[in-house]
Amino acid sequence: MDYSHVRATDPAVADAIVDETDRQRTTLSMIASENHASAAVIEAQGSVFTNKYAEGYPGERYYAGCQYADVVEELAIERAKELWGAEHVNVQPHSGSQANMAVYFAMLSPGDRILSLELEHGGHLSHGHPANFAGQLYDVEHYRVDPETGYLDYEQLAATADEFDPDAIVSGFSAYPRQVDWERIDAVADAVDAIHVADIAHITGLVAAGVHPSPVGIADFVTGSTHKTIRAGRGGIVMCGEEHADAIDNAVFPGVQGGPLMHNIAGKAVGFGEALDPSFTDYAEQVVANARALGDQLADHGLSLVSGGTDTHLVLVDLRDSHPDLSGGDAEDALDSTGIVLNGNTVPGETRSPFDPSGIRAGTAALTTRGFEEDAIREVGDLIAQVLDAPEDEETLAAVSERVDELCAAHPLYE
Ligand SMILES: *Cc1c(COP(=O)(O)O)cnc(C)c1O
Repeated sequence: MDYSHVRATDPAVADAIVDETDRQRTTLSMIASENHASAAVIEAQGSVFTNKYAEGYPGERYYAGCQYADVVEELAIERAKELWGAEHVNVQPHSGSQANMAVYFAMLSPGDRILSLELEHGGHLSHGHPANFAGQLYDVEHYRVDPETGYLDYEQLAATADEFDPDAIVSGFSAYPRQVDWERIDAVADAVDAIHVADIAHITGLVAAGVHPSPVGIADFVTGSTHKTIRAGRGGIVMCGEEHADAIDNAVFPGVQGGPLMHNIAGKAVGFGEALDPSFTDYAEQVVANARALGDQLADHGLSLVSGGTDTHLVLVDLRDSHPDLSGGDAEDALDSTGIVLNGNTVPGETRSPFDPSGIRAGTAALTTRGFEEDAIREVGDLIAQVLDAPEDEETLAAVSERVDELCAAHPLYE
């Protein structure tokens, strides 16, 4: 991409953009929430739609001159409906957190009760963490995964729901490697007369491609982000049945947001269009096959995987058995120094702290975009194991780093 205009007026920012492009090209992005959007999506997001105010919805805006804003928003909505099979879609949330905020604002009052997965077990801040608005406005209780198996403890969820009598149950997670039984959670929500919000932020693409079961048509609301396993640029989305259409539209705007980010909505339209191509199903299948291959390879090196494996795009490694003296934060730093970029992560039954947890989380969505298949992914698994075994050994780190460079060169990006 050509940044000649930024370069002419603002070389410091131009340098940072070029450096970041270079960083993405020459490192392995294994942060499970990241991906590489296409140049087409990035072009749409960088377009003159950033200038346009379009408060309201297609055909009913509060400003003049919205005819082309209507075109891109209607395309984004229609394509999203086709991808996920939802009755009603709102593509205006600025992010996944704003999508959740809009659902809470539409359906709950301050003081109402939310039951969600504990953050340390794979939940998300916006599901009611004390540092998040949701934790401060609502009365929040958590369910957990079974610390032995790493799988969701649906019985504990049902028992807690019985006792706590929540107004909303939130499902959908940030660091859960297994398929979610949406129906089972929905039955619990029905039994206690709570709304069910399924937050598929991480797995929007896997659900769209049919490689993970869909909560659409089961949960009352499905929220998501548009930049993780689907490559539609940074943003959020909400889906629901027709009966909640007005409530959610009013909650997104004017409830929690002002003017929609029309440039991002243009990016969503392009990215959703790309995902409607049959090749996207192949991509999503490869993402999961790669995550399984990565998990198998790490396990072969003696690493413990939470839940013993994965059905999704990510693996969660509990370092306590294999590397009791190595924290997730130190592992993250050592790997980053070789160009393998992932994050330290809490694990069920965490015994360190969220700032320096006991695990690492690795995803395959971005590498799969670059064309990585199982063989190359298994080699990445070998490299990760080498670094974890010798995180301070200069020779090992240099050798891994060299191999990372070669793997990046063999899987070019943004040419
Ligand atoms: C990533 C994520 C979100 C959305 O995060 P944003 O950064 O606000 O887009 C919401 N819920 C879960 C479970 C997530 O993992």
